[in-house]
Amino acid sequence: MKHTLFLFLNMALLAGVIFIGWKQFGRPSRGEVLQGSGWTAKKFGDKYFLSIANRSELVAAVNDFVRAQKLTAGNITGIGAVNAVTLRFFDPQTKQYVDKSFNGQMEITNLSGNISTMDGKEYVHLHITLGDKNYQALAGHLLSADINGAGELFIEALPAARVERSYNPEIGLNFYDFAK
Ligand code: FE
Repeated sequence: MKHTLFLFLNMALLAGVIFIGWKQFGRPSRGEVLQGSGWTAKKFGDKYFLSIANRSELVAAVNDFVRAQKLTAGNITGIGAVNAVTLRFFDPQTKQYVDKSFNGQMEITNLSGNISTMDGKEYVHLHITLGDKNYQALAGHLLSADINGAGELFIEALPAARVERSYNPEIGLNFYDFAK
């Protein structure tokens, strides 16, 4: 009788351990929460959800995030909303940059970019497409964007990768330099 009760208790304990283990295994990871100047992030391995704070400047916040996480290579995508942006157009004929600012509420319909390094320092390259209240698109190389609403980015990092850039005087741009 005593032996049967002991066996039963052991079986119940084992069933409990298996149940708790299974529940834990099936639960999504909450990730690691990070925070910096104008941003908060959730880290899952080498992938990050990055939230740019309302009224923060997106490019400065992304640079701060990349620096804080010591990222050397990766990919950036995002959406959100802004009320002011400065875009840059490179004229290959003159090798001159033409910068232009735009004000007004606009949706970030696409933010695309990459992370590399130049002289060992983090280098973030971003392009943006924005939609205005008339559903017209505005696009270009992004210099600055003031978030007015959300800034929801996703970053995929390659922690062990080294992707350097060098200035190409012939073209007038900082190119990928795979010899480095
Ligand atoms: Fe560009």
